[in-house]
Amino acid sequence: MSNLLRFAYNLIEETDGVVEWDPGQDQFQALLPGEIQTRLGLSESLVSISDNRVGALKGESDIVPIGYGTELLERAIPVALEMGRTAAVCMPYVASRKKNHKDVDDYFSFTNAAFKEKGTHAGTLDYWLWSFEAAADADERHEAIYHTCISAKGVDCPVLPELILDQGSSWEPLTFEPYEISKEDLNARFITACDRTLLRINENLSGFKNTVLRHHARDIQCIKTYFDDLKREMRDEIKRRNLKGEQLTIRKGKIQRLIEEKVTKLAALNDKYRVKLTIRPLALLLARLPVRRHELLIKRRKGERRISLVYNLLSREFDAMACEACGTDTHSLGFCDNALHLLCPSCLSVFDQQKKCPRCSGKRPPSGLGGVLRNQGIKAYGESHHE
Ligand SMILES: [Zn+2]
Ligand SMILES: [Zn+2]
Repeated sequence: MSNLLRFAYNLIEETDGVVEWDPGQDQFQALLPGEIQTRLGLSESLVSISDNRVGALKGESDIVPIGYGTELLERAIPVALEMGRTAAVCMPYVASRKKNHKDVDDYFSFTNAAFKEKGTHAGTLDYWLWSFEAAADADERHEAIYHTCISAKGVDCPVLPELILDQGSSWEPLTFEPYEISKEDLNARFITACDRTLLRINENLSGFKNTVLRHHARDIQCIKTYFDDLKREMRDEIKRRNLKGEQLTIRKGKIQRLIEEKVTKLAALNDKYRVKLTIRPLALLLARLPVRRHELLIKRRKGERRISLVYNLLSREFDAMACEACGTDTHSLGFCDNALHLLCPSCLSVFDQQKKCPRCSGKRPPSGLGGVLRNQGIKAYGESHHE
């Protein structure tokens, strides 16, 4: 059963349709309420939906295929969006009580520069909260849901998902026109969200991976022992019966085949125990939150630069800043000499050692999923081209 088929099944169930899997689960029967039938463009209210497009196309006409590029999927996506898979809310502004804010100094360290506060002002900032479903498969399966919140300035805000999911349902829905949100910006936020979610998944999976490694090592040992025992028995037999000529050649051939079989079995084990990770975005929530921006003038040697730090009134914390070379979130702010690029500790140490700023030399945060996966040493199946 494909994700798309499952998606269609859930969608029809959530819109009060009646659904039932067929044996084999590569299709299901659906009885659709009139409105949904019209919106999905189906001519009958009782249909079978299948992800086997070839079979469906040459089979009976009441089997409707779902897959990329099918009319059914094209029509189903807007219906799903309207049903709250994506939503936007706006947190009401709460006047901050006197002196409940922390100082810039409490949150940020300035490694190699001085700063001067040039004032603060109140405003709002958009935060994008993605929910991902992640599954890791090897000989066992591990599933979990992850929520990752990325600010419009491109940093991960790990304390916000819980607060937003907890309080957001009581806030006003936010209305905006599609043109107000740039596709490029949203794509960049999504890439960051994937990166941070993968980091979290990796941390979470260490126990799972250890179990898999242990099972793998145990199976390798079993196979080695099994084949080594067989080989020893054959060699013993050759010795004991003092085999010669054709008899000996036959035995030697058998031993050779055993060695080859052992290699094949071990290679199959590598496949069995390779951890396969599947990640699927489930929902997206846009939360417009009140913030206070602190404008800072950074001074380093003869250079000056203005930056603005964001104090979030929901988390009551400063958001981290993104390293301009590698994209890492950081509270420790270093700056290069000429352009005063903002650098995280590890990029700053590259700058100090090589006397060359990584950002000035062209390093940029990953702009596509390929870069994110490469950075984390993950091999992608069917490399994505959504760069
Ligand atoms: Zn960096
Ligand atoms: Zn630089």
